[in-house]
Amino acid sequence: MRLRSTLLVPLLSLAAWPLVSQVPAGESAQAQPARPASRLKIAVDAGHGGDDRGAKGKSGLLEKEVALRLALALAERLREFGYEPVFTRPDDTFIPLWDRAKLANEAGADLFVSLHLNASRARGAKGSEVYFLSLGEGNADAEIVAAENGPEPEKPADADGVVASILEDLAQKAYLQDSEKLAVEIQIQLNLLGGIKERGVKQAPFVVLKGAAMPAVLVETAFISNPKEEARLKDPAFLRRVADSIAKGIRAYALEANGTVRRRAAQPVR
Ligand SMILES: [Zn+2]
Repeated sequence: MRLRSTLLVPLLSLAAWPLVSQVPAGESAQAQPARPASRLKIAVDAGHGGDDRGAKGKSGLLEKEVALRLALALAERLREFGYEPVFTRPDDTFIPLWDRAKLANEAGADLFVSLHLNASRARGAKGSEVYFLSLGEGNADAEIVAAENGPEPEKPADADGVVASILEDLAQKAYLQDSEKLAVEIQIQLNLLGGIKERGVKQAPFVVLKGAAMPAVLVETAFISNPKEEARLKDPAFLRRVADSIAKGIRAYALEANGTVRRRAAQPVR
């Protein structure tokens, strides 16, 4: 808690802090009852939005639309599990990649889940993949990394954000092991979904994950480039099943962590 008050408060939005902090500044952790695992706060990040449409299927289905529908379905399922979802975008708005992790950090989210659809030139490609951050090139297809990172600069260049962006750049590094565990649990559940072929957990240098000061994953849900999967992605019942699988993966991770899933104060890792 000392780190949170001395390190984070000066860097994050002071205006937002009293609304999102679980422990009021100045109070010791001992004075607070343990936060029940069932009230974990999950940042739900619908990929793309606004002018950024993401990938497009043969019949015209847009990734940004499906990602938002999936985010809404996931939030509903998370609430049923007793968790608290927070959106980076609850509607068709464009949010820059770095701002998404920042929003999650400022909301005090315990976990971060970014939702996307996969696309490939290989027409028959199918199934879902869960990624966590790679500090190097990782093992994702270059076309997927390019599609998700877009033409954005690596980091915001504004002078005011220099100290904050250094911290953000290091933030996810402290959570890579936990992020991998979360990715594995979600992948297991998605593999159990009928008709989705196992593709395995992968690592990629996704910008949206870099600044997250909590375990963070990016889910590539089915292939919008595959006409058969595009048709399924139009079905609300299918999206509910995907949301259910992701929520079960989150719950499995939380249970595995035995109540120790907590957002810790971001601290530089050397
Ligand atoms: Zn995407």
